[in-house]
Amino acid sequence: MSDQLQEALDILRDSGVRITPQRHAVLEFLIQSEKHPTADDIYKALESKFPNMSVATVYNNLRVFREIGLVRELTYGDSSSRFDCNTSDHYHIICDQCGKIVDFHYPRLDEVESIAEQITGFDISRHRMEVYGVCEDCKDLAKASH
Ligand SMILES: [Zn+2]
Ligand SMILES: [Zn+2]
Repeated sequence: MSDQLQEALDILRDSGVRITPQRHAVLEFLIQSEKHPTADDIYKALESKFPNMSVATVYNNLRVFREIGLVRELTYGDSSSRFDCNTSDHYHIICDQCGKIVDFHYPRLDEVESIAEQITGFDISRHRMEVYGVCEDCKDLAKASH
């Protein structure tokens, strides 16, 4: 078992959340996956193991994880939310072709927040920055098809 999974299970236990086999599996999948899966991705990956599980169950588990701060929900307008169990500060780069989301680390852009506050008078709660492009896999695919 990975340290991150063990730590996450401890946090669940400390929060008084019951650890069901499904909950354990959803958490394990999230931690292993670096792809920021949707609830549907998680459901598809686990449905053969848990035939009684529904997408709604997966959502419920993710909501519990989000409420205790184990995962972050990334929303993209009308499309499905993605879930990220890397809750440290990081930014995302997103592939225009396959939609893959990759973490990258860059010093927090705190300046943006103070400048926005000065200009607009808002109380700033957070900011979000995303970078877009074409990932290496998609570039290789494009090359292979030529
Ligand atoms: Zn791609
Ligand atoms: Zn991330």
